[in-house]
Amino acid sequence: MSELVVKKSYIADNYRELCSEIGVTVIPMLKGNAYGLGDTETASALYDAGAKTFAVSRLEEALRLHGVLKDAEILLLSPYGTEAAVKKILECGITATVGSYDSAVLLNGAAARQNRKCRVHFAFDTGMGRYGFLPAETGQAVKAAKYLPNLELCGCFSHFSNSFSKDNSSVHEQTSLFNECLSELEKSGINPGMRHIANSNAALKYPETRFDAVRIGSALLGRVAVGTRLKLKDVCEFSCDVCEVRWLPAGQNVGYGNTFKTKKAVRIAVIPAGYADGLYVSKVKDTFRLRDVLRYGWQDAKSLIGKGSLCCEINGRSAPLIGRIGFTTVVADISKIECEVGDRAKFHINPMYVNSNVERRYV
Ligand SMILES: *Cc1c(COP(=O)(O)O)cnc(C)c1O
Repeated sequence: MSELVVKKSYIADNYRELCSEIGVTVIPMLKGNAYGLGDTETASALYDAGAKTFAVSRLEEALRLHGVLKDAEILLLSPYGTEAAVKKILECGITATVGSYDSAVLLNGAAARQNRKCRVHFAFDTGMGRYGFLPAETGQAVKAAKYLPNLELCGCFSHFSNSFSKDNSSVHEQTSLFNECLSELEKSGINPGMRHIANSNAALKYPETRFDAVRIGSALLGRVAVGTRLKLKDVCEFSCDVCEVRWLPAGQNVGYGNTFKTKKAVRIAVIPAGYADGLYVSKVKDTFRLRDVLRYGWQDAKSLIGKGSLCCEINGRSAPLIGRIGFTTVVADISKIECEVGDRAKFHINPMYVNSNVERRYV
């Protein structure tokens, strides 16, 4: 059986470590089923560690978290503008995102009909190009805050498009645009509430982007793309039983495509895990600019030169995988290590890619 073991205490440790380093409110961002860890379990662990506000990017995620954490604030970071969605947001007391005057009017009307006030955060599009008031539309945000009495403005946010890059110019530019939006609100007598723009990378690398709160996803998993002196822990591990151990003679092909031939007799472990579970699946390289294609090509080439050897860990030892990764099977060379049928093979893997039908076990 394959499983993803998720260490809840490590998630809590990372959260506490990040809180003390960053010094402002850390809002766990739990989109995509908490990056594959499982959102309700992750949220409960963080709640027990002291988090009281959580961010998600879809309505169904917000409703699921609301179901398990009744008195936490659930901040839905994408704008929802249909009647049906708005009704659910109001019923469950989700804090909504408003990124246009029209959606503000719709939400305000629905809240008025239910005789409620809806907590909202205003989104500002300072460079991501997805949603939010453009800086030039800040007047619309002022109007929404002033004249729609069933909306309670509790925060203002924006989102960085390039915080992982060495080039920090867009982070600075977006931060200063965000500051301009905020001061325009304030000049009009509007209190912007909790101000937040930074994700993990920005929060760690650019202290000036921390404002009143930061939205942290990947760093809670111990995965950050920027250098940090924090000792963040790897919070999960994918593992699977070895289902067969045997010797292959020299000159034997291993795997699809006939890309690997044994040079001498090899003792192998057959492991029933593969692409179907999310092993070695990675993000599509969704780029068509020549310089990006070349950059990715160079990275691929470097990983090949580093022997390109993918490994798993069995009984505390590293075992190179040989032949191509299969859909449901991989083969490890265990000539130099001890291994029997039933031993666990462990893999370092981004939980985001671990298929949802792989059981998550929380410890
Ligand atoms: C994903 C996301 C975050 C968190 O990003 P990390 O880099 O994983 O910390 C924050 N804010 C928004 C709007 C997001 O979509």
